[in-house]
Amino acid sequence: MTTRGARATTPITIARGDGVGPEIMDATLRILDAAGAPLRYEEIDIGERLYHAGHGSGIGPESWDTILRNGVLLKGPITTPQGGGYKSLNVTIRKTLNLFANVRPSKSYAPFIASNHPGINLVVIRENEEDLYAGIEHQQTDEVTQVLKLITRPGSERLIRYAFEYAMAYGRRKVTCMTKDNIMKHTDGLFHRVFDEVAADYPDIEAEHQIIDIGAARLAAQPESFDVIVTLNLYGDILSDIAAQVAGSVGLAGSANIGDEVAMFEAVHGSAPDIAGKGIANPSGLLVAATQLLVHVGAADVAETIKNAWLTTIEHGVHTNDIFRETLSARRASTTEFADAVIERLGETPAQLTPVAYRTGGIHIEPSVGTEADKRLVGVDVFLHWREAERDPDVLGAGLTGALPDGWRLEMITNRGVKVYPDGRPETFCTDHWRCRFAPDGANEVAFTSVLDLLAAVDRAGFEVIKTEHLYTFDGEAGYSLGQGQ
Ligand code: NAD
Repeated sequence: MTTRGARATTPITIARGDGVGPEIMDATLRILDAAGAPLRYEEIDIGERLYHAGHGSGIGPESWDTILRNGVLLKGPITTPQGGGYKSLNVTIRKTLNLFANVRPSKSYAPFIASNHPGINLVVIRENEEDLYAGIEHQQTDEVTQVLKLITRPGSERLIRYAFEYAMAYGRRKVTCMTKDNIMKHTDGLFHRVFDEVAADYPDIEAEHQIIDIGAARLAAQPESFDVIVTLNLYGDILSDIAAQVAGSVGLAGSANIGDEVAMFEAVHGSAPDIAGKGIANPSGLLVAATQLLVHVGAADVAETIKNAWLTTIEHGVHTNDIFRETLSARRASTTEFADAVIERLGETPAQLTPVAYRTGGIHIEPSVGTEADKRLVGVDVFLHWREAERDPDVLGAGLTGALPDGWRLEMITNRGVKVYPDGRPETFCTDHWRCRFAPDGANEVAFTSVLDLLAAVDRAGFEVIKTEHLYTFDGEAGYSLGQGQ
C-alpha cells in the first residue's frame, strides 16, 4: 500500500483498468496528490489480463477482499472481451456488492465546450438492483411470456434517501421523482409514496413528481429545468442516456455506483482502445468521478478545489484532443499536459462557469426500519393455459364455475388484464393465457389449504394451472390491482 498526500486518512482501492485506463488514472492520481486529497491507495488488477487468465468476470478472488476492506473503489474502464461467455465486470461488481444507486450527472460546459443545451446541469439517480432487471422471466403458454417487476419498500427508501442526501451534499435544490404510477399503482405507486414520505424529511429541497413519459419528453426538450432526478431501474437506464445525449459531454462525465458497504466511482466512457497508449486521452471523466468520491468520503473541500481548478482549465481553453475545437480552444493538451494545467490552477475558481460548493460530512444512509401490517389472504388469481379453439370466455367461465368446491366463487376472468367474464365484450382479443380471480363465498378471509382444494378441483376438471398469485389485504388495503373493467 502506498500513501499519498499529507492528510492520508481514508483508504481506497484503485484499479487502472484497460486501454486508456492507466494513463487517465495516472493523471487523476497526480492531481489528487497535488491537491492533498486525504486518501491512501491500495491497487488491484482487474480487466482484460484477468479475463484471459481464466477469471470469467475479469476479477480475481483476492481483489474482492481488498474492495470490501476499503469500501471505496476508483475504477478505470475495462475492455470486455467479445464472445466466449465472458461476463461484464461492471455488472458483476454492481450485483455482488449490492450497489443500489447509480449516479450519473450530465452537465454542459458551454460556451467553452460545444453543447446543444448550454444550461443543462442535472443528475440522474437510478435504482440499480430491482424492477424488471431482477431477471425473473418465464414463458407460461404457447403465446405468453412474462417478467416480474419487483419494487421493494427498503430498496426504494434507501435510494430516494440517497437522492435527497446527495442533493444536500451538492447544494442542489430540487429532486424530481419519475414513475408511471397512474398505471402501475402498486409497484410504481409504492416508489412514489415512499418518495413523498422521504421528501417530508427534507423541507429545504423542492420535491416534485412527474409521470415518466412526459418527464422523459421534457428532459429531452428542456433539460435545464431538472436538477436531481430519482427513478426506477428501467426508466433510469433510459433517462440517463437521454440526459447524456442532450448534454453532449459524455467524455467528461463521471459516474458512481453506491451501496451500503461499498461505493464505486468511474468515468462514463469506455477503455477507448483506438487511442490507448498515445498519451492523448482526456482524464476528465475519471477526475470528475474522483471528485464525487471525495465528497462521498467527506473531503468536500478537496473535491471543491479540484473541480474548480478543472473548470478553470476548461475555461482557459486547455483542451485534450477529443474536445479541442479551433474556435473554442486555446491549446491542444496531451493527457499529462492537461493534468499539469489543472494542478497549476489548484486554488483558482472559474470566472464564467459556476464554481462548485459542496457540503462536508460525506453521505450516509441509515437503513430503514420495517413495519409489519395486518396481512390477510382474501382470494387468489389462478392463471390458466387454456387453448380451446374458439377461446370463448363464457365457456371457460361456465366450466370453472361447474368445477368449484364449496366456499369459492369465480369473481372474474381477465385476458391480458382486460375483464372478459362475466359480461366481456366479444371484440376483446384473447390469447391463451387467462387470469381467473376466485374469492371466498360469503367470507372475507380464506385459509391456504382451501386454495389448495380449489387448485386440485380446477386441475381435476382438466384445466392447466400455470401459476397462482395470492390476493392479500394489508391493514385492510387491497394489495392487488383490479381487472380493467372490473
Ligand atoms: P469508448 O467510450 O471506449 O470509446 C468511444 C469513443 O470515445 C472512441 O472514439 C474513444 O476514442 C473516445 N473516448 C473514450 N474515452 C475517451 C477519453 N477519455 N479521451 C478521449 N477520447 C475518448 O466506447 P467503446 O469504443 O464502445 O468501448 C470500448 C471498450 O470499453 C469496450 O470493450 C467496452 O465494453 C468498454 N466499456 C467499458 C466501460 C466501463 O468499464 N465502465 C464503459 C463503456 C465501455
